[in-house]
Amino acid sequence: MQVNGKEILVLGAAKSGVAAALLLHQHGAIVTVNDSKPRDAIAHDVECLEEKGIRVVTGSHPEGIVHKDLYCIVKNPGIPYSAAPIAAAQKLSIPVYTEVEIAYQYAQSPFIGITGSNGKTTTTTLVGEMLASAHVPNVVAGNIGTALSTIVGETKPKEWIVAELSSFQLLGIETFRPKIAAILNIYQAHLDYHGDLASYRAAKSRLLMNQTDDDFAVLNYDNAAAWELNSATKARVIPFSRTQRLAQGVFVQEGSIHIRIGDKDADVCNVSELALPGEHNLENILAATAIAFLAGAGIEAIRAVLLTFRGVEHRLEYVKTVNQVQYFNDSKATNSDAAMRAIGSFAQPVVLIAGGLDRGDDFRKLEEVLARHVKAVVLLGQSRFAFAEAAKRAHVKEIELVDGLAEAVEKAAQMAAPGDVVLLSPACASWDMFQSFEERGSMFKHFVHTL
Ligand code: ADP
Repeated sequence: MQVNGKEILVLGAAKSGVAAALLLHQHGAIVTVNDSKPRDAIAHDVECLEEKGIRVVTGSHPEGIVHKDLYCIVKNPGIPYSAAPIAAAQKLSIPVYTEVEIAYQYAQSPFIGITGSNGKTTTTTLVGEMLASAHVPNVVAGNIGTALSTIVGETKPKEWIVAELSSFQLLGIETFRPKIAAILNIYQAHLDYHGDLASYRAAKSRLLMNQTDDDFAVLNYDNAAAWELNSATKARVIPFSRTQRLAQGVFVQEGSIHIRIGDKDADVCNVSELALPGEHNLENILAATAIAFLAGAGIEAIRAVLLTFRGVEHRLEYVKTVNQVQYFNDSKATNSDAAMRAIGSFAQPVVLIAGGLDRGDDFRKLEEVLARHVKAVVLLGQSRFAFAEAAKRAHVKEIELVDGLAEAVEKAAQMAAPGDVVLLSPACASWDMFQSFEERGSMFKHFVHTL
């Protein structure tokens, strides 16, 4: 991408937009950053952009901000394609990218790209730890932590960039080609943005579209929607499976995690030795094992991580035991599939705290797991009424509606008996009441610690 002297519009002054603006400016582009939020509502330091000569326009998308001389637009993944400036750009045939594409254009290092409805952060973190444990140079970035555009200038040619990627980011790529791609699973998430499951799947499959037979695609054999994409890639497909022994791939065999890739045919460790609980995490572990092995990590290094890695904050995170009741923070469960997995991973009766932003998500799929594992629910947020209906259909005995998280923790503590689990796994995004799922999870932990 030759951007010297070209006019580029960056839409959205969040972390990735700011990083892309700086990278493009460094390569000689004439950059404007535009955000509809007022300047004082922008969390990032836009003054540092202006000091460098980047124009910053805030408060609206003014008329004329999109014009025919733009070389391209870099849009924040959260801005829908129906937004006025994007629609205007498309009318003028101006390419619209996300920051991933820009970072890729200037990267010297090979990419590992990890996507899926759930498990991205856990798997990406695991891969980073496994490569580090094997002394394979790598940097973890993307949706998780640092923006890709911030790190691409600093990585060395042999260093892996381990990127967590959302489907929103993948919609805006054109040439992005990961040497190793992984699709963990495809569930009915984010349908408010993508419209239907077919277009959501199409977005995820873009991760594979530029791969060649020099590359690898790690796909979940047990998740039909993800596995079917094996026909959409030219890369060598490496399946992983929790349930089937495979001719090639990573799978569970007689209670052990087994790698069978190329000439390698070996056990890594016993499933009972894993430090990270949960069946869903076993899938993340199998995927990470395959990815790290393909990227050059040896079995001993992978094993060392599996025996010690306890998970990422806000993902089925153990908080504390109070009066013989265990408290778990799964604030990151922002959809029904994630919550379903979390609830289903407990053998003890669960007092569930759930509810949040109403995205029209269908809580029906939670009914079975509610009926089997949940003795009481405490509900908050916009979606609490819809969730209460699902809980009633599942014959959950006690259903409480509350106004805030402090009250929810108090109620849950009253309802729980010794031996039970209190689980925050909201099945909803947090933005109706909190800044982020991190804030929600941290507040939950705070209230638990003050019980
Ligand atoms: P992501 O980054 O894709 O949102 P995380 O690793 O942060 O995924 O996990 C988010 C939540 O999703 C976890 O709290 C857990 O409840 C659920 N989850 C994690 N991995 C999986 C998986 N492989 N399948 C289904 N649900 C999962």
